[in-house]
Amino acid sequence: MDAEILAIGSELLLGTTVDTNTAYLSSQLASIGVNVYRTGMVGDNIERIAACVRESLSRADLLICTGGMGPTVDDVTRDGVALAVGRPLEFHQALYDQVAARFASLRRPMSASNRRQAYIPQGARPIPNPVGTAPCFMIESEHGTVIVLPGVPSEMRYLFEHVVQPYLRDERGVREVILVRVLHAVGLGESVIGERIADLMEQSNPTVGISAKQARYELRIGAKADSPAAAQAMLDSVTTELEARLGSVLIGSETLDQQVVRLLQERNLTLALYEGHVTAPVYTALRHAIRPTTLLRGVTIHPLDSPVPEGVAARAHTGAVNARDHWRSALGLGVEVSATPDERGYHMVVAVLVTPEGPLTQEQYYDLRQRENLNFIGTLGLGMLRRYLLGETTP
Ligand code: AMP
Ligand code: MG
Repeated sequence: MDAEILAIGSELLLGTTVDTNTAYLSSQLASIGVNVYRTGMVGDNIERIAACVRESLSRADLLICTGGMGPTVDDVTRDGVALAVGRPLEFHQALYDQVAARFASLRRPMSASNRRQAYIPQGARPIPNPVGTAPCFMIESEHGTVIVLPGVPSEMRYLFEHVVQPYLRDERGVREVILVRVLHAVGLGESVIGERIADLMEQSNPTVGISAKQARYELRIGAKADSPAAAQAMLDSVTTELEARLGSVLIGSETLDQQVVRLLQERNLTLALYEGHVTAPVYTALRHAIRPTTLLRGVTIHPLDSPVPEGVAARAHTGAVNARDHWRSALGLGVEVSATPDERGYHMVVAVLVTPEGPLTQEQYYDLRQRENLNFIGTLGLGMLRRYLLGETTP
């Protein structure tokens, strides 16, 4: 089944309200195997809503609209949809009674304009709304099905779960399941990872995609099957394949910072940082995962106590040793950045990890003119710490 989504509301076009309904519906439809190839956004205008609805139905089997279902004159979704399918609006006493009952239970006076909400297109199936006042509806026409849901995100989600999903499952035979798994990787270039898994990325089910952010990678696996168990099995087999192809570059479902913190915890090791850059890139990369906080004994941020040694590597090393001694931790991790870039515009970055067995050093060049590239320094430091904790590198 192919579906489209139409977000209705002038506030969405103005950018004053962010359209979260489409994102929710897209992910929900994807998870039950309904293809969404296109989504739209339109203001509160009868003709333009009608045009969008007709256009969507010419392409898709199902259109889900949200918004514009309130009692005020600017909420015209029901008029627009009625125009699109060529059916007049009809008053439904039962819907009116539901709206009235809701107002009564809230001890709020009902205004005349609420009467508008009891009108739905002729032949449409009413969808009672127990969590709000706006009743909704669906129409099955020869062109396709339109389901109209409220704009209020919580009401929309409630009705999707309690009405739309059962309808799609029981009346439209939608039984597929799509599961997505995200795995994290670090330590190789994106193109190298891409080459190792190119054939997996070309297949259509399960799908494998990769996205990179400052040398940290997210591998996204999607599997479509008839049952959750079958989809899970597909995810497991791709995961095994990725493990074989990528080896220790693949972290797994944990992120780099989460894994480092877990490994420190398991090995009962404490850490201190020396940050040669004032933005504290290693701490920035680590801070969300640190729990319990006693693992990280302290962070020393540039400058070093005098006398400052010459050379980037020597300063990183001295910084790491001083931080470890000062904060009385088992490990000291220091990063230092060259004061000036080289002729290509790149800064030299050195990371030094001081361990009970001796120091480990790594050197890299980064283009730090773009500030988000400072994240590379965090990845470098944590990546090095990770390999040490995994026993892959020893001093
Ligand atoms: P409406 O049904 O158009 O009266 O909208 C009711 C409330 O839901 C308003 O606060 C809207 O801003 C909000 N809303 C409408 N459409 C969306 C959407 N697509 N995403 C998030 N909020 C929405
Ligand atoms: Mg509105």
